Amino acid sequence: MDCPKCSSTLKITKYKGIEVDKCDSCEGMWLDYPELDELEDTVLDADEQKGSTITRPGESEFKCPRCSGPMQQFRYRYNEIWLEVCAEEHGFWLDKGEEKRVLETMSQRIKDLKRSTNAEQDMDRLLGRIRSKSFLHKIKDAIKG
Ligand SMILES: [Zn+2]
Ligand SMILES: [Zn+2]
Repeated sequence: MDCPKCSSTLKITKYKGIEVDKCDSCEGMWLDYPELDELEDTVLDADEQKGSTITRPGESEFKCPRCSGPMQQFRYRYNEIWLEVCAEEHGFWLDKGEEKRVLETMSQRIKDLKRSTNAEQDMDRLLGRIRSKSFLHKIKDAIKG
């Protein structure tokens, strides 16, 4: 599988205990969308229940590394990060640093060491959340308008 941004070969690696496909060149990251991940639905937060986390979806110029179909770009309100998703439910693309940016913002807000551990946990929840089935459905609804 090749990187949608720079065409380098993606390497399977573990990030936060999740298997991801990572690009060594541009350091972007591909997260496969799991077929059935109902468990993750339990971590949905209030924002998500209101359906307001995903805004401004639009066409991405990049192609899905699995099917070469067009990806959609959308903004995830959690930290104003832009993610790309395959409309055919293959997965998500995170550019270099997008996952780190989430952590950084949270550590700025959370000063002491004990709570920055929570920032890590929040990141785990975010990763779980964007891979959940209901999250994908929200994206699809948003895309359809
Ligand atoms: Zn790349
Ligand atoms: Zn695809």
